[in-house]
Amino acid sequence: MLKKVFVLLLCAVFMATSAVAQKIQDLRLSANDAQNVRFVVDLSDQAEIKLSRLSNPPRMVIDVENAPFEPGVREKRFLTTGFITSIRTGKPTPSTTRIVLDLPSDNVTEKHFTLAPQAGSPWRFVIDLKHNTPQVSVKAFSNDAQNIATQAPQKSEPAKKSVTKKKIVMLDPGHGGQDPGAISRSGKYEKDLTLKMAKETKVLLEKAGYKVVMTRDKDYYVTLRGRIEKAHKANADLFISIHADSAASSSAKGLSVYTISEKASDKEAAALAESANKADILFGMDLSEYQPEVGNILIDFAKTYTMDQSAKYADEVVKEMAKEVTLRPKAHRYAGFAVLKSPNIPSVLLEMGYLSNRDEDKQLQKESYRNKLSKALVRAVNTYFTKHVEQ
Ligand SMILES: [Zn+2]
Repeated sequence: MLKKVFVLLLCAVFMATSAVAQKIQDLRLSANDAQNVRFVVDLSDQAEIKLSRLSNPPRMVIDVENAPFEPGVREKRFLTTGFITSIRTGKPTPSTTRIVLDLPSDNVTEKHFTLAPQAGSPWRFVIDLKHNTPQVSVKAFSNDAQNIATQAPQKSEPAKKSVTKKKIVMLDPGHGGQDPGAISRSGKYEKDLTLKMAKETKVLLEKAGYKVVMTRDKDYYVTLRGRIEKAHKANADLFISIHADSAASSSAKGLSVYTISEKASDKEAAALAESANKADILFGMDLSEYQPEVGNILIDFAKTYTMDQSAKYADEVVKEMAKEVTLRPKAHRYAGFAVLKSPNIPSVLLEMGYLSNRDEDKQLQKESYRNKLSKALVRAVNTYFTKHVEQ
């Protein structure tokens, strides 16, 4: 779930003068992936820091000498991410500020270093932690999913599989109802093609162990905003909008995948920041308990993270599709499509090919051709959740 992968920055809101020169200004935790996290202690000046490891329960202890928290920092609720399940603070001696990171096991390796101030950043003590034990249940689940998707029969491990919560994939068949989308060379509607493709992909995804929700399952119109709202309501982990292209030139052909660009998503994120219901839209977190500026930082991180994840999935789709069909040059493209503007759900838009191209139109109308596309999408979903998402 996104909740757990979330990157957090807690800001020191106040500055204060004190007898002690150096202060802890900030604690920041971010996850690169399921196995790697980075913990950063921001300091107003260099400080003496001691690291130690303890077992039962496994934890890392960071003792900072003669550098108390700046007012307001310690009172913050330190949210966690990656494999770090909790961050605690204490004061074992009057001069020592202790920070404890709870670890999932003793099999965590650590590297640390200090960075001098630069470009507006303060002194930073950085700890990179690597969890060396991959989660067995996740692997078992993913392998199962892969096997089922490619119809290679193999024994599954139901006991382990049940440990993992099903990922939710939202399929969004483009257009519908009064909006036919593009009309093909042979007179077929894009809205019908996208619905067929979505229904067929749904079957394969479900076989592979995913929960699948669709923005529409019949021929009716759903607003673009409505599609995003449905994805939020469904608590989707991934959103795939399905379309087919059309161009004035009948020679244009090839498949492409779109994700949003930084520019295109800024406005939506800003609107979210302003909106009254931002509380439950962002990971179900109640932002009202944070200072407004912290809320905005959280949204900003969510947006950046989501764009990054969207791009990762898009790249996996491109990789898998390249094995099956013709791609447009630079098949992963960026655009400000409204349905891609969820600040917190990784979203891609698939253009399956050109309905204005006679050959591609003919192919796209065939179930066997779409089946190749569906299977590639499912393989990309498997890789995405295995490689790029913390379970
Ligand atoms: Zn379309």
